[in-house]
Amino acid sequence: MPRRLPIYFDDHSEPLERRIAVGLHKLALAMKHQAWTKANDDGLSPTQGQVLATLAAEGELTGTELAERLGLTLPTTSDAVRVLVDKGALVKSPDPRHPRASLLGLTAHGRSLARKVSTWPDFLAAAVGELGDDERPAFLSGLVKMLRSLQTQGLIPTSRMCVTCRFFEPDVHDGPMPHHCAFVDAPMATGHLRLDCAEHDEADAARRDAVWRRFAPRA
Ligand code: SF4
Repeated sequence: MPRRLPIYFDDHSEPLERRIAVGLHKLALAMKHQAWTKANDDGLSPTQGQVLATLAAEGELTGTELAERLGLTLPTTSDAVRVLVDKGALVKSPDPRHPRASLLGLTAHGRSLARKVSTWPDFLAAAVGELGDDERPAFLSGLVKMLRSLQTQGLIPTSRMCVTCRFFEPDVHDGPMPHHCAFVDAPMATGHLRLDCAEHDEADAARRDAVWRRFAPRA
């Protein structure tokens, strides 16, 4: 007769949500440490690296737009911009949309630095590579849900994710690629979801909510 074992860990464990949050905190510390180390190697601060990476991904922006994208204050962003202009990595040009504003863009030196910055998260990609084929899409889906929640609460800057894009149609196909991107008119698997897409076009609030109600239970 099989021995009845006590359900020890049900009564002696922190809630799963809290243990996952602790794990994410440890990842955040590792990322912060790596960012400081890599930034130091490249003669930058982590904030300067973020500025270069954002302008490389999004093209020219005003200082205010840049601060919004980074989720930083305007003075903190302006400090990083001033140093990068002095280093010859950024150049200012008139903004045709607003006569008194300036656009910030990368110089050739800035683009070269931005390419180095783009390799800073590689240590994490290598760790994610340890996940199995089934685990990676599930992890991505979980990240999308967490990022959307933090975004909705105003705790992180808006990210150009599929789930907030007017071109995203969730759960409209049978089979392994249930979603659809109307921008390129192609089906998508959960593992294809983008977190920062250059073609993203923000859906209105009603559509974002409707899309989320269809996507969230099945992702
Ligand atoms: S345009 Fe980009 S963000 Fe929008 S649904 Fe297509 S892949 Fe996703």
